[in-house]
Amino acid sequence: MALLTTEALVLRGYKLGETSKVVVLLTRERGKVRAVARGARGGRPRYQSALEPLSEVRVTLYGRQGAELLRLGQAELLHSAFRAGTRSLDAALFLSGCAELLDAFSSEGEAEEKVYRLALAVVGATEKGASPELLGRYLEAWLLKLHGLYPPLDRCAACGGELAATGSLSYHRAAHGFVCGRCGPASGPDLSPDCRRLLAELFRRPPDGLGEPGAAARTLEAFHRDLIAAHLERDLRAPRVIREVAREGAR
Ligand SMILES: [Zn+2]
Repeated sequence: MALLTTEALVLRGYKLGETSKVVVLLTRERGKVRAVARGARGGRPRYQSALEPLSEVRVTLYGRQGAELLRLGQAELLHSAFRAGTRSLDAALFLSGCAELLDAFSSEGEAEEKVYRLALAVVGATEKGASPELLGRYLEAWLLKLHGLYPPLDRCAACGGELAATGSLSYHRAAHGFVCGRCGPASGPDLSPDCRRLLAELFRRPPDGLGEPGAAARTLEAFHRDLIAAHLERDLRAPRVIREVAREGAR
């Protein structure tokens, strides 16, 4: 008997034996799960393109409750994030970065409906042509916030007092948050008023209504990278690859 049938986003897959692979799925009902997809590779792959990263699928999973590795039965493709011919290299790299970030932040067996809906919204906005750079900052900001890791923008992390509503924000590493003038000097970085406005937009607007990236988005990228690395205690690979490609393109 099947353990469950659920909607899921494919995060990644790796080879297993000659013809199979293990897929890592972000399921709507059980959070992250790993499942063996028998016959997923080889001459006549059984699942076709259903198991590409960030495809949305409806899957049937078999196995024991709590098992580390389940078995994939049916996988019906609901939506492919990589429709041939409509993707720029930027968008493709961005989507693979999204999958890596979602993988890093998700826990096995722990359903996170908000994270699931966030991922769908970001994939949808990519397809509508939203700027991958801003979508990246959007995804990072919300993943950090949903996991309780985004420092409050209105309270001093040291004294709890209210932060000025305008002007720049000063981050202090030792306090894990933004600090007021009285509690400084802060270690940095400082987020400029522009950066602060962008951040407010990210938390207020849907991901397909963000406009065009500027210098503030780049400042925020570095800031988010530090917050994420501190949380995961490692650097993610994809953002580094994206930066390298961007540098190559600029030559
Ligand atoms: Zn303070």
